[in-house]
Amino acid sequence: MNIVLLGAPGAGKGTQAARMVEEFALPHISTGDIFRKAVADGTPLGLEAKRYMDAGELVPDEVTIGIVKERLAQPDCEAGFILDGFPRTVPQADALGTALASMGRALDAVVLVDVPSSALVARLTSRRQCRVCGRIYNTMGEMPAKADVCDSCGGEVYQRADDSVETVTNRLAVYEANTQPLIEYYRELGLLRTVDGDRDVDDVYADVAALLHSLS
Ligand code: AMP
Repeated sequence: MNIVLLGAPGAGKGTQAARMVEEFALPHISTGDIFRKAVADGTPLGLEAKRYMDAGELVPDEVTIGIVKERLAQPDCEAGFILDGFPRTVPQADALGTALASMGRALDAVVLVDVPSSALVARLTSRRQCRVCGRIYNTMGEMPAKADVCDSCGGEVYQRADDSVETVTNRLAVYEANTQPLIEYYRELGLLRTVDGDRDVDDVYADVAALLHSLS
């Protein structure tokens, strides 16, 4: 199954992806996670990406597309993948379609996790994440049993710099300008499946899972 998760920052894509990985055993490809790891490792990619991420801007398409193409060519993607946070622009979506076609493959579905913009600022600024395994927590919902220590791996739970109030506003504006057009793009291709993301995580996942089962 070749799946794209689409949705605004804070819509819950990462949380849904983690559950999908558990049930469907597909690799989770999050460009945000790839960039955060590069930043933490201090690689040249990380140094470049950090400038954009800190400002809530998008990393240039040519950089991002190259990384995803390389990742999709790895053997663990042969049975399928869950793309989370990519594509985010029309050129990225075009490049993804071309890359998959050259491998004789295509997307099975684009799952839009739909959350009203009024709910997103609160969701993002209350989000916390494990620095090591990426597990997501929320000060308004589930937090680790021991303060700042991840229940899953013992890593440090922190607030991403780009989840600050200042950066969040720009990230949402960037989403509206660059990524929102992909909803129409994939609707026209007949691939769009919309899930109401403004509900309890379990209820959202029940819909996502049912949708994926209907594809397999
Ligand atoms: P995310 O974790 O998906 O919210 O991504 C965090 C940040 O990484 C974004 O605000 C961008 O700066 C960068 N990023 C992630 N995915 C992409 C992408 N597909 N295109 C450009 N920049 C991206």
